[in-house]
Amino acid sequence: MTQATERIPIVVIGAGFGGIAMATALRRMGERDFVMLERAADVGGVWRDNSYPGAACDVVSRIYSYSHDQDYEWSTIFAPQPEILDYIHRVVEKQGVRAHIRFNTEVISARFDEDRAVWRIETGSGGQIETPVLISAVGLFNRAKIPDFPGRDSFKGPQFHSSGWRHDVDLTGKTVAVIGNGASAVQFVPKVAAKVKQLYLFQRTPQYVLPRTIFPGTRPLDAKLQRHRWLRGVARLKIFLAFEKFVWRRKWRPNARLKGEAGFRAMLAAKIPDPALRAKLTPNFPIGCKRQLVSNEWFDTLIRPNVEVIDTPIAAVTETGLRTKDGAERRVDAIIYGTGFTPTEYLQPMTVTGLGGRDINAAWREGAEAYLGITVTGFPNFFMLYGPNTNAITSIIYMLECQSRYIADCVRALRDRGAAYMNVRPERQASFVAMLQRRIAPTVQAMSICLTYYKNEFGRVTTNWPGYAFEYRWRTRGVRTRDYEFVGRNS
Ligand SMILES: Cc1cc2nc3c(=O)[nH]c(=O)nc-3n(C[C@H](O)[C@H](O)[C@H](O)COP(=O)(O)OP(=O)(O)OC[C@H]3O[C@@H](n4cnc5c(N)ncnc54)[C@H](O)[C@@H]3O)c2cc1C
Repeated sequence: MTQATERIPIVVIGAGFGGIAMATALRRMGERDFVMLERAADVGGVWRDNSYPGAACDVVSRIYSYSHDQDYEWSTIFAPQPEILDYIHRVVEKQGVRAHIRFNTEVISARFDEDRAVWRIETGSGGQIETPVLISAVGLFNRAKIPDFPGRDSFKGPQFHSSGWRHDVDLTGKTVAVIGNGASAVQFVPKVAAKVKQLYLFQRTPQYVLPRTIFPGTRPLDAKLQRHRWLRGVARLKIFLAFEKFVWRRKWRPNARLKGEAGFRAMLAAKIPDPALRAKLTPNFPIGCKRQLVSNEWFDTLIRPNVEVIDTPIAAVTETGLRTKDGAERRVDAIIYGTGFTPTEYLQPMTVTGLGGRDINAAWREGAEAYLGITVTGFPNFFMLYGPNTNAITSIIYMLECQSRYIADCVRALRDRGAAYMNVRPERQASFVAMLQRRIAPTVQAMSICLTYYKNEFGRVTTNWPGYAFEYRWRTRGVRTRDYEFVGRNS
């Protein structure tokens, strides 16, 4: 039996930091009639899912938090995952967001009905919802990437991805394989290595991992400022500007990179006495090419007697362990995938169909793109948070707040004009995207030796914002109605 179609004025998909920012912005403009659809049973997004040992933010919490909720007393400058999740729960209660959320409701598809100017949403349980305004806050890191090694299913022991940590598996005294050395592995490997008998770390490429103290917000003055509630705004501004300085240096001091690389190599020489291991851990690509990793424990962990770093590619997973391409086999009790996510596959597996029955992934055949990372031509009244090219060198929460304010302004513009829908002008989107790609082209991230999750299979950087975070704030300060075609009703 088909379920009756429900009508809701505004639908937000996802209840992570982005969805909550959106709900707060809507409530602040007096909007109460909206629903958030969340596929999981709790709020929190990546901070609900990534509960692996050592999980913490790597942008200091004073800035990795909402501008409107600065009362939380963080126990440490890079808060651990349970605290971030607790913070999210408190914000949800304080901002009155919870009542809007429907849990265990996954959006499978959304199709725009042009005649009626509504999005028709289908949920995992077969529910049908119609809404004129659809807002996606599904995040970038919500789908685990696990390489499809031959024989992967034959392994007899436990195997899991870092974002689905098996807390029921006791690793104490066991032999464990960790595949991958990205941002999550850098956090959990030191914790795991301290309790297991043997840890094999399989890496594809070495990483620049830098001590926490070189990151903004870690100086004694930052801590002093934060002790006083009324100075927290100053502390945030100081940290924000320090991140902006990274962007400034990238453009105006490109040779600072060489100094950074030399400093990294000097640190490695001091930390890793074995030349063979040092060679394995020395990146052959420029600093800044990949996401900058933060850890004070990483290299000390890799010289532990119970840790071996293997850079020979994996050929297969066997019933009892892993075989590398040189034929060597290592028996292990458990396999942990620290292999990251699929950030360039925006919105997937959800399908989004716009004007003329066009699928968004067909529109994005050569790479995802959107005006301001928020609106896509041909997909009217569809808005995204953390969309294409909005991953910035700062707290992502800052970007999410910019987007949520802008989207709230779009809703206001629609209502003020009495329009049925707004569609970003194709030439406006094209010129914006051309400007982004022109600015990305000379950066290290665009270099062909930089193989990163920032790029899609065509080598196009579709995730990163190339400018200052402040510039993004400026560009999203309000809707320029001439950027959009307003259609229908009184417009
Ligand atoms: C381990 C880890 C550490 C990180 N650390 C930092 C950091 O230190 N600093 C920083 O700036 N950024 C960090 N990030 C990036 C992080 O993704 C963002 O900061 C932020 O959490 C994004 O929030 P979001 O709401 O956009 O996405 P998410 O947190 O991914 O939330 C999306 C929500 O949407 C739901 N959802 C997805 N698809 C559907 C669907 N079809 N239907 C219904 N619901 C759906 C998901 O279940 C999820 O709850 C980190 C990411 C990870 C994975």
